[in-house]
Amino acid sequence: MQTQLAPSLKDSPLGREAESIVQKCVHCGFCLATCPTYTLVGDELDSPRGRIYLMKQMLEGAPVTEKTRHHLDRCLTCRACETTCPSGVQYGRLVDAGRVIAEEKAPRTWAARAMRWGMRQVLARPSLFGLATMSGRLAKPFLPATLAKKLPGKRMAGPWPASAHARTMIVLQGCVQPVLAPDINAAFARVMDALGVSVRVAASAGCCGALDHHLNAHDASRQRARDNIDAWWSLVEAGAEAIVITASGCGTQVRDYAHLLQDDALYASRAAKVAALARDPAEVLQAERDRLTERLSAAPASGLPRVAFHSPCSLQHGLKIRGVVEALLKLAGYSLTSVPDSHLCCGSAGTYSLLQAELSQSLLERKVAALQSDAPALIATANIGCLTHIESGADRPVRHWIELIDARIATMREPSRI
Ligand code: SF4
Ligand code: SF4
Repeated sequence: MQTQLAPSLKDSPLGREAESIVQKCVHCGFCLATCPTYTLVGDELDSPRGRIYLMKQMLEGAPVTEKTRHHLDRCLTCRACETTCPSGVQYGRLVDAGRVIAEEKAPRTWAARAMRWGMRQVLARPSLFGLATMSGRLAKPFLPATLAKKLPGKRMAGPWPASAHARTMIVLQGCVQPVLAPDINAAFARVMDALGVSVRVAASAGCCGALDHHLNAHDASRQRARDNIDAWWSLVEAGAEAIVITASGCGTQVRDYAHLLQDDALYASRAAKVAALARDPAEVLQAERDRLTERLSAAPASGLPRVAFHSPCSLQHGLKIRGVVEALLKLAGYSLTSVPDSHLCCGSAGTYSLLQAELSQSLLERKVAALQSDAPALIATANIGCLTHIESGADRPVRHWIELIDARIATMREPSRI
């Protein structure tokens, strides 16, 4: 698509990046069939091609209205369109830039800005979010059923291995996950301990910055990246082999630190190193497959539950990791059920479930029906946002897949664990 950048954007790196992405789109429309919002509402302006067209007009200086922002807001940033696109259009980067420009040209109301600011303050701070979650749990019996279902029950972390191996990796604790599911990182640490690797946490590392980024606070998101790099750096210098992020949504963000800080003279090279070390646990266990097979061969595999795996958009479209978790679960002895339309988003998408509640709920209902269609005993996934969102609609347990691997290894000690 040929574009003529408006004079006001000609000197803007954001405008130039957006222009170069738009130019790759050949308008073929292949992406429409895999776009969750288009398949739900059937409006071209709620499709990747329609949104690219809106952004092209915006880049060329056409008036930006609330309607432009509305269609960009309804995009989940799931990046299913990137997976489908034969021309390599980096839609995720484009919509990030498009949203910043749209918000500058058509500012939100004071109330909307205040709500988004409040979300960033509470969700990204485990102390505040923990307090809010605790209060919600106490008030749960008095909440309407729809709201009560959104509050997950308390989960116990279990022991963190004390042994010190020569091999070490770092794990990101993050912001929401340690409050809602502290068991996920503990399970990862136990699995790695069984494989001869110690997992360390940098106490001062925090939110990866994805929340700020998706709410258009790009400066705040870059600052979180710098803070995390500082928090991890001594462990990286001490020889940590990887920085593991057990929530694939956060993993996508950390993998992007190199891009986010590419123009930062002080942090660019450290950001590139950190991004290169960032791993999803699926990549880590795939690399340790032989040792894992050895460990699992000692654990009894009979009577395991049938599992439906929900591959988060951040895993399959963001990190482009496809089929790896499924293979690991099979290696561990689980049988997987079939899941129709597994490329489609569950509707969680960070704060989307709060800001676009109606669309999110429709996507959730469709996803839960697909996941439960082949009668699994439980559902596994790879991202805390998807986990809690699906849990609010499913009528069976939802777990992070690493917990299932941990449970299998644990059966050597506790046969009734799964
Ligand atoms: S990112 Fe997802 S919701 Fe947004 S346009 Fe692409 S496929 Fe549609
Ligand atoms: S599939 Fe790619 S090139 Fe075709 S319309 Fe969609 S974004 Fe453009």
